[in-house]
Amino acid sequence: MQVFKFGGASVKDADGVKNLTSVVELYKDKQLLIVISAMGKTTNALEDLVKSYFYHKDDTHQILDSIKEYHFNIISNLFKEKQQPVIDDISNSFVEIDWILEDEPHDDFDFVYDQIVSMGEVFSTKIVSAYLNLIGLKNKWIDARSYIQTDNTYREGKVDWELSAGLIAKDLPKVLQDQMIVTQGFIGGTSENFTTTLGREGSDYTAAIFAYSLDAENVTIWKDVPGVLNADPKWFDETQKLEQLSYLDAIELAYYGATVIHPKTIKPLQNKNIPLLVRSFISPQEQGTTISDTKALLDIPSFIFKINQVLISISPLDFSFIVEENLSDIFALFHDLGIKINTMHNSAISFSVSVDYDERKIPILIEALKSNFKVRYNDNLELITIRHYNQETVDRVLENKEILLEVKSRHTIQMVVKKV
Ligand code: ASP
Ligand code: MG
Repeated sequence: MQVFKFGGASVKDADGVKNLTSVVELYKDKQLLIVISAMGKTTNALEDLVKSYFYHKDDTHQILDSIKEYHFNIISNLFKEKQQPVIDDISNSFVEIDWILEDEPHDDFDFVYDQIVSMGEVFSTKIVSAYLNLIGLKNKWIDARSYIQTDNTYREGKVDWELSAGLIAKDLPKVLQDQMIVTQGFIGGTSENFTTTLGREGSDYTAAIFAYSLDAENVTIWKDVPGVLNADPKWFDETQKLEQLSYLDAIELAYYGATVIHPKTIKPLQNKNIPLLVRSFISPQEQGTTISDTKALLDIPSFIFKINQVLISISPLDFSFIVEENLSDIFALFHDLGIKINTMHNSAISFSVSVDYDERKIPILIEALKSNFKVRYNDNLELITIRHYNQETVDRVLENKEILLEVKSRHTIQMVVKKV
C-alpha cells in the first residue's frame, strides 16, 4: 500500500480538488491512504478565530463567516446538486464550532486552539472524500483522531506510537482491500477523546505515522514544487532540484527549517526503510525527489532561510560566568514555554539564542528570564543556514547583511543576520 499526502495549497480551491482527483485516478488500482491538510490558508484563519474568541474581540463571527463562505464556495463549485449529504455534514461541523464559541473560553489557550483549529482538516477531508466518491473513486473517510493517539500536550501532541500503530494495523488493512482511505493530517486524539494537533505543518508527520504502521511501500508528498529544492524559490532566484537525498540530509535540512518536509516525518520512515517521495501535483508524471537510505551525499550547497527571528542574549545579573546550572534553568524555561531554539552560542558571560518570534510567547519568555538574568534582545532578524557551504555561497547570501551571530560546523553554517 502507499500513502499520499496533499497539503493545503493543493486543495485551495475547487480546481485544486479536481486536480487531486486526477492524480489519485492515476493510482486507483493501488491500495491508497490519502492524508489531507486544511484547505488553502484555513489553518491561519482558524488561528485568527481562536485568538479573537479567546481574547473576546468583536470580529469572532465575522472570521467564522468568512471561513464558512470559503468552504461553501468550494462545495458549490464541486457539487452541482444542492442535495448532497456533504452539505449537511459540513454545516454540522460548523455548528460544532458555534457551540464552542457560545461558551466562555476554557482557560487553556492551547486546548481551545486544538479543538477549533483541527476542524480545518475535518472540512477538507469531508469535502474531498465526498467528491472522490461522487466521481467514482470509492473511498472511506476515517477520523484520524481515533487512530493517532497522543498525550494531552495541546498544539504539540506527543504520539503514543505503540497504541496508534496497533489501532491502525488492526483496522485499516481490511478497509484498504476494497477502497481508498481519506483521512486528516495534523490532528490526533487523547485518551479522553479530546482533539490535539501535532504542531504546524504536521500533516507530513501524520502520513509517516500511517505509513509506518501499515508498512507502506512508500509515502508521496504532493507539492506545488517539482521536488526538494536546494533553496526555497520564495527567497532565491536560482534553485536546483535534488534527485536523491539520504534520510540524514533530509532530516538535517528539515531540522534547520527547510519547510518542504516537517522535521518529524523522516525518522519513522527511516526506521522502516520506507522511501519518501516529494513530487509535483502539477506535473504528476515527473519523478520528483526520492529520500531513501541512499549513500549519495548532497553535493550542492542547500540554503535555508528563516525570517522573523529574535536573538536573545542572556547573562547573569552579577556578571558571574554562565555555568551549567544557569543553562539548565534557561533550557527549562524554553521547554516549558514550548519555544524551540534555532541557534545557540555560549561564551563565558553570556548565552545567546535565536528563536522564531511568537507574539504571545516571546514577551512571557523575556519577562521570566529578566527575573534572574540580564537580557538583551534584537528582533526582525533573519537566520540563514547553508548545508554543505563554501565561501562563495556565504559571501553571496551576506550581501547587504550584517552578521550578529555565526555558528559553524564542518557541514553547516548558520548566521543570524540583520539587513543593512
Ligand atoms: N493545516 C496544518 C497547517 O497549516 C497542517 C499542515 O498543513 O500540515 O499547519
Ligand atoms: Mg501545509
